[in-house]
Amino acid sequence: MDFNDDVRLDPSQVETGGGGRGRGVAAGGGVIGVIGLLVALFFGVDPFGGQGGQDTRQPQGSGEANDLRERCRTGADAERDEDCLVVGVVNSVQDYWESAFAESGLRYEPARTQLFEGATRTGCGYATKDVGPFYCPADQKVYLDLTFFDDLRATYGAQDGAAARAYVIGHEYGHHAQNLLGAMDRTPRGTTGASSPAVRLELQADCYSGVWMHNAVQTGYLVRITRTDLDQAMSAAQAVGDDRIQERGQGHVRPDSFTHGTSAQRTEWLNTGYSSGDPARCDTFKGAI
Ligand SMILES: [Zn+2]
Repeated sequence: MDFNDDVRLDPSQVETGGGGRGRGVAAGGGVIGVIGLLVALFFGVDPFGGQGGQDTRQPQGSGEANDLRERCRTGADAERDEDCLVVGVVNSVQDYWESAFAESGLRYEPARTQLFEGATRTGCGYATKDVGPFYCPADQKVYLDLTFFDDLRATYGAQDGAAARAYVIGHEYGHHAQNLLGAMDRTPRGTTGASSPAVRLELQADCYSGVWMHNAVQTGYLVRITRTDLDQAMSAAQAVGDDRIQERGQGHVRPDSFTHGTSAQRTEWLNTGYSSGDPARCDTFKGAI
């Protein structure tokens, strides 16, 4: 992605070093219930299947100090360092949502991204990298193990590239916007199926990611969004469609178990967001999807 080389990054929006240290979060059943739905997050893996009660495993956070302040100072850093890319995208996405909320007379509350390695404790319970990136509404943070991006390419078959990563981050911040706007609270928990509320929530997050991409240049962080960027984002959305994942994993497709939408739906809603640049066009809760 083509960042404005001179734009100042705000690394305080991203944390490194495992996370959740000292928080003493109890992974109770209710919390697991929350994570089971919201976290099936990026592609419907069930992170806590068959696991009840407390999990005593320790997260493998590196415990390293947050050095992003040193490394991620400008847009040029976002282009050469993958941690700084996350910082740059998070900054741009939140800048967009802050303006969009303000235009509607609302106040946006920034959410941090926690980078972790292997596993971490979160406000939604214990999470391993296998769940993929997710947003936890309880502590209003996005959790991301960067090795997921390798899986996105190698396992899921998406094109690699900064814009594929940016799409994922835009999707997770879409969930944060949904949380602030009340869409999450209005969505019944634990539903599945091709036109279920869960799928509609996920498709709206895809649409919001596209809306940000449309407005990314206006935030001042990016110089342009190229055709290649768009192709990468679309390729990632296509790679994580429920039908595509099920086809590869179990050889057949079961629409009644969909949690995130088909490849066609995900790319279509991403495109709706990108072409319109208007979150009001992301009304996945009305009509057929
Ligand atoms: Zn999601």
